[in-house]
Amino acid sequence: MDIQKLLRNNIKNLKPYSSARDEFQGGTKTMVFLDANENPFENGVNRYPDPYQNALKGLLSELKDFSRDQILLGNGSDEVLDIIYRAFCEPKDDNILILPPTYGMYEVLAGINDVAVKKINLTSEFQLDVPKILQATDDHSKLLLLCSPNNPTGNSFSEKDLEKLISKFKGIVVLDEAYIDFSEKESWLKRLNEFPNLIVTQTLSKAYGMAGIRLGICYASKEIITVLNRIKPPYNVNILTQKKAIEQLQNKGLAHNQINDILEQRNHLKIVLKNIPFISKIYPSDANFLLVKVDDATKRYQQLLKLGIVTRNRTNEVGCENCLRLTVGTAEENKRIIEAFKSLSNLKSSKK
Ligand SMILES: *Cc1c(COP(=O)(O)O)cnc(C)c1O
Repeated sequence: MDIQKLLRNNIKNLKPYSSARDEFQGGTKTMVFLDANENPFENGVNRYPDPYQNALKGLLSELKDFSRDQILLGNGSDEVLDIIYRAFCEPKDDNILILPPTYGMYEVLAGINDVAVKKINLTSEFQLDVPKILQATDDHSKLLLLCSPNNPTGNSFSEKDLEKLISKFKGIVVLDEAYIDFSEKESWLKRLNEFPNLIVTQTLSKAYGMAGIRLGICYASKEIITVLNRIKPPYNVNILTQKKAIEQLQNKGLAHNQINDILEQRNHLKIVLKNIPFISKIYPSDANFLLVKVDDATKRYQQLLKLGIVTRNRTNEVGCENCLRLTVGTAEENKRIIEAFKSLSNLKSSKK
């Protein structure tokens, strides 16, 4: 597969901005930096951040057992995805494939980049309709966006189906693994180097508890990462984000313990919600949320809101009629939603 041929035309010959930190990196403590028009008085943030986030990438590379020159970081996955669209999609000419119900940003980003969207719905089991997806593909189909575990359904896709799509699709496959740390399935990072057209994205926003710092991670071949690096704004990940991410990631046990807690809570929620009469289905989840089918999602959403609980009403998404998406919270928070569901069902509450 020739990645260069897939690139958007203007990107093939793009000359990137060369920042002061690009032209001179490193140095010693005794050097003076008069190259970037910064304010010289130290306050922790007076200098521009490392444009390639070397310290943070080093740590991630170790943590994920993945080569650091195959990593690109962005201001959230949303920026990472936008950079990917800009690298490959010719506005007005090209198209992308998305598989509803799925993450809303894929379509928004297509709109922003003026790229057409082909939608191939997931099956009734929320699995991939491989033949239909391949049928819908044409010469201008540059990106296939797969989200596994999927948002808002919570399930992972069959490994076999994923492999078939990655092998057969003639463009770039973007596999969004935002929820992979909550899943028993392994990340595709392990196999990434078998597939030159595969991009895997992850984030610190979910399992790692850092939605506020905005850090998205993109793993791909060196060739793809080199292109994406040319497009990204030079200082797209700020100093505070880099520092906080390093600090949190160094505490290796933290995320691990929190993930275990969340999974335990997810199980507990699942068991208790089975007894709520107006919940007719709890979908299998490999993520930190549960999709549940109720009698009337809009009514229940409003009732929960009155009780001070905010859920996500997904009733207007394909295949999600009368579904609410519930994030797994702390034990205390989950108690609140359980009590709320019980009181709405006129079941005896366990609260004293
Ligand atoms: C939450 C989420 C993300 C994370 O996006 P960030 O911009 O990194 O916060 C990415 N993909 C999916 C499917 C998500 O649900």
